[in-house]
Amino acid sequence: MTFRLYNTFTNQKEDVRPMTPGIVRMYNCGPTVYGRPHIGNLRSFLFADVLRRWLEYTGLEVQQVMNITDVGHLVDDADEGEDKLQAQAAKEQLDPWAIAAKHTKQFLEDLDALNFRPAMNYPRATDHIPEMLEMIEVLVEKGYAYQVNGDVYFDVTKFPAYGQLSGNRVEDLVAGSRIEVRDEKRNPADFALWKSDEKHLMKWDSSYGPHGFPGWHIECSAMARKHLGDQLDIHTGGEDNVFPHHECEIAQSEAFSGKRFANIWAHAKFLQIDGGKMSKSLGNVYDLGDIQERGYEARILRYTLLRGQYRQPLNFTWDILEESKAAVENYDRLAQDLGRLVKAVESDTTIKSRGSDLVATAKADFESAMNDDLNMARALGALGTLRNEVGRGEVTGEAAAEALGLLRGIDSVLGVIHFESGDLESTIQSRIDARTEARANKDWAEGDRIRDELLAEGIALEDSPDGVIWRRV
Ligand code: AMP
Ligand code: ZN
Repeated sequence: MTFRLYNTFTNQKEDVRPMTPGIVRMYNCGPTVYGRPHIGNLRSFLFADVLRRWLEYTGLEVQQVMNITDVGHLVDDADEGEDKLQAQAAKEQLDPWAIAAKHTKQFLEDLDALNFRPAMNYPRATDHIPEMLEMIEVLVEKGYAYQVNGDVYFDVTKFPAYGQLSGNRVEDLVAGSRIEVRDEKRNPADFALWKSDEKHLMKWDSSYGPHGFPGWHIECSAMARKHLGDQLDIHTGGEDNVFPHHECEIAQSEAFSGKRFANIWAHAKFLQIDGGKMSKSLGNVYDLGDIQERGYEARILRYTLLRGQYRQPLNFTWDILEESKAAVENYDRLAQDLGRLVKAVESDTTIKSRGSDLVATAKADFESAMNDDLNMARALGALGTLRNEVGRGEVTGEAAAEALGLLRGIDSVLGVIHFESGDLESTIQSRIDARTEARANKDWAEGDRIRDELLAEGIALEDSPDGVIWRRV
């Protein structure tokens, strides 16, 4: 069965068929690095991670790029207001470069703590100014863009498909609406590719003047092109990115290359907190640090944010986080139970295999749910059923090994289960301690015997300056 993903552009689920067989080129809109990502941002990024993991589960290679916006994203998402980086720099009395460096590091650390598979590349906007200017120059040459007083705007009337992604019509995007009228624009809906501002702290010299900086939208067009080429299989973001950000990306990239920019546009719905909006004034803008401070592991937040289908509203409450903790710990126990059942068969080969059909059904249900536009809620239902069946003793013998294999496969997508039990680790540690003691007593033979015994079980020991460490081989 093929994987179908909802395409915002066509308003329907579509088969994911990469342009290059076997390789998916995917671009994810990443963070604006003026603060630590909040759990809403993390939901959007996690959607991209789960999507990537699911594509890999189905055997595809994924070339994934997630950008880092470190300049040009203005407070109102369009062409007005202060640069978010610059505003934060003023608050923290740092320069915007320091703000960007600090939060980029934090962002990458958060992704790591949340067990994201690393993208192929995390390009920074400030490292791609020449690539942006190259596109802008071509857009001006081709007549899609025009220059006024050191600013360069994209003329939306020159690109008839403008509005197709978001369902906006250029005629409706009139003065006084979301987009402020700037006198120098030919049409109210035109958007900036390049802006000049002497007071802007991060600025570059170009043929348009000495104090310029890029518009937020051109950054993604240029970075996607540089790292993945003119055409993408999948482009993702949060639902607020549909307009104006992605609408503008399409206009720029397609006017530039003359080719379709992305085959599938996929957007994650906003996370809600206590059933409503997340906002500073309500004091409910949480980040990973807030979750950890309350004693929850990062993987519990990961599970909380991925347990619903990405296009359905998802609510966060502390009670839901607590429920997620119980669910994840249940999966840990399932992994341990299956581990014990598998061990039991190894020592007693007469144990009959039972429940193979149940495992096969769970696998098929999980896969068909994920193939149906990443229906995670339904996929987790299949896992819950399997857990109950194992709990009732309906899966034994060889079938337990199949179930354990399936659970590992499922967790290659979820990324939350601990497969080693604390008990197992402590037995390994006590045997390592026994070996250390034997060696201290110069009983080398006993020390070697313990080491070889562990190795036979797939545990290799290494003597390091900090003591003995073990790893699975
Ligand atoms: P930003 O750092 O503001 O550029 O946002 C980074 C990403 O987070 C964008 O793709 C947004 O669409 C997404 N985002 C922002 N708020 C939320 C939210 N409450 N729930 C889900 N995604 C969000
Ligand atoms: Zn973007």
